[in-house]
Amino acid sequence: MSAKAEIITIGDEILYGQTLDTNSHWISGELDQLGIKVIRKTTIPDLENHILAAFAEAETRADIILITGGLGPTNDDLTKPCLAKYFGVELEMNEEALTELTELYARSGWELSELNRGQAIQPVGAAKITNELGTAPGIWLEQNDTIFISMPGVPFEMKGIMEKEVLPKLKARFVTGNIHHRILKTGGIAESTLAEKLESWEANLPSHMKLAYLPSLAQVKLRLTAIGEDLKQLEIDADEQIQKCIPLIQKYIYATENISLEERVGQLLREQGKTISCAESCTGGYLSHLFTTIPGSSDYFQGSYVAYSYEIKEKALKVDHKLLTEKGAVSEEVVIQMARNIRKVFNTDIGVSLSGIAGPGGATPDKPVGTIWIAYSDANNTFAKKFIFAKDRKLNIQLSAIVALNIVRRNLMP
Ligand code: AMP
Ligand code: MG
Repeated sequence: MSAKAEIITIGDEILYGQTLDTNSHWISGELDQLGIKVIRKTTIPDLENHILAAFAEAETRADIILITGGLGPTNDDLTKPCLAKYFGVELEMNEEALTELTELYARSGWELSELNRGQAIQPVGAAKITNELGTAPGIWLEQNDTIFISMPGVPFEMKGIMEKEVLPKLKARFVTGNIHHRILKTGGIAESTLAEKLESWEANLPSHMKLAYLPSLAQVKLRLTAIGEDLKQLEIDADEQIQKCIPLIQKYIYATENISLEERVGQLLREQGKTISCAESCTGGYLSHLFTTIPGSSDYFQGSYVAYSYEIKEKALKVDHKLLTEKGAVSEEVVIQMARNIRKVFNTDIGVSLSGIAGPGGATPDKPVGTIWIAYSDANNTFAKKFIFAKDRKLNIQLSAIVALNIVRRNLMP
């Protein structure tokens, strides 16, 4: 019988609707991949009686209880005192955790205050779980065959702790045999369309394999997991399935390993010895930012103009005054000129441009918020595409840049 887990997320902000509980969603997905069954998720306020009651209830049902939130050093953070009370133990300074914390603060040049020292205090008998990405270590406690794992609420800290410490321990304890993952990263296709294309392949997967769809902005990561005894055989089985899957969605796949789209585009540019430049309006440099997050991007990324105003579009990018006034900055003709001209100005193989209405203002009857034009230009090929994304400004900026990256990627991949 497989192990049973429950997830308790603690925090008033989740109940008030201020924070979306993404932690339990992510944790569920990870445990599912290990074959550990999540049987319940509970969200509770920062209140002692609720926290103690949730612990007691979950213990009657689960082998593993994963808790996020309420681990900070402030008064509203109650998880630690509640764990101590529930286990009937005192809180004490965990010397190992204190050493780690002292070292972290010394490295960062910060002063370790009394409040910060308090983060190394743990219930007696607890094992600290190293948090490499923050200052609140996690806590691991066991009683009556149930494991309590308490982690900070900040999603990236929680994920760091889970990936580095918790998941490997749970795997070693509850998963017999081996697990093998294969990754396919896709761009330019919606999760639902992808699922339709893969429907019959997925339905015919052998029973020891599972497919997970992990969507993010304008991208979907596919993770195929094989569970069994013989690792070599799992690798062969997974490879056989991946080879069947790839032709079904070939043109959407940008990587068969866990790398970002900007990293992949960088690889392709470097391999092909090509350079690129950008003319950005509505994205304000976000596409260039994505390019430059990749180490060594100076090999192919020459630079950009953020041409936000009509005036700069005319002066710096030589966009026709007449076109701008007649068609508007958010138009096919204008982005095409922007892409062609940035390529000339920076003398690059490829020019990319973006212009759109990120919102919330600026819409016209024929150009609603979220209307974005993206153009691509190289020596043989210049074209523009129109998209209508979302109502949210930040989302429009991010989506525009990622979709532009995918357009470049499609032109670089045969
Ligand atoms: P805490 O560890 O309770 O101090 O939480 C720190 C921050 O993490 C909160 O202010 C939230 O922004 C975020 N957070 C807490 N719980 C969750 C959750 N379940 N899902 C996503 N974010 C969360
Ligand atoms: Mg909190």
